Amino acid sequence: MAAWRGWRRWWRREPLFGEAEWSTLLARSPLLAGLGDPDRERLRELSAEFLRRQTITPAQGLRLDAGDRLALAAHACLPLLRFGAEGLRGWSQVIVHPGAFRVEQGRHGAPHEMDTLEVVHEGFEDREGESWEHGPMVLSWADLHTEMTEPEPGRQLVIHEMAHKLDALDGLMDGTPPLPRDWQRQWALDFGAAFAALQDELDADPEAETAIDPYAAEAPEEFFAVCSEYHFTAPELLRASYPAVAAHLERFYGAPPTLSLR
Ligand SMILES: [Zn+2]
Repeated sequence: MAAWRGWRRWWRREPLFGEAEWSTLLARSPLLAGLGDPDRERLRELSAEFLRRQTITPAQGLRLDAGDRLALAAHACLPLLRFGAEGLRGWSQVIVHPGAFRVEQGRHGAPHEMDTLEVVHEGFEDREGESWEHGPMVLSWADLHTEMTEPEPGRQLVIHEMAHKLDALDGLMDGTPPLPRDWQRQWALDFGAAFAALQDELDADPEAETAIDPYAAEAPEEFFAVCSEYHFTAPELLRASYPAVAAHLERFYGAPPTLSLR
């Protein structure tokens, strides 16, 4: 028994990647490079935990090397810097397609999708990512790779999907992750008001130039996921548009990385 415990401890501590791989990743990932030292260290531990717990399966002939997998894991763990590895509970699969993937429209048990690109033919649509409530996260590598190496304001697919995973932890995908009761009440009030304001803006003018991606108006859970993308990639814009929401996300995710994106 003691020997088994020892082996288990050794296995858990065996590094899945070394100093060199981690440094290479930081050098090519502006979001990760913009973290303070304590957060970088925490992210490194979370990334190792992610790689231990989640099976990353490339699909359709895609090949992902160890560096690609580490990059995916690290960006997926950005939303867990305060919440912790508990955010990985309830699912164990990440399926990665080379690019946008085609799914049946409105299929039974449809997951929360992101950015429907276009209806390609009747009954089908292309997606960049989706998260099943109790199932896999599905991602497009083309989009993920671009966003990791050259992040743009308001766009970070894997963070969007992780927000859905955190949201679903309490059994209800409704735009509110599990939180202490008082905070959750205030969160629901503030997010609800901001979501309603965005919806009103689009009701008044469907072509309105909204401050954030109008996709956020689709549902409360999409509003939370989209605002999470802005927290990490365009925090000033989020603060200026929805200060109460931005304050909740700073408390939930920690301070955003320092970076200068156009
Ligand atoms: Zn979504």
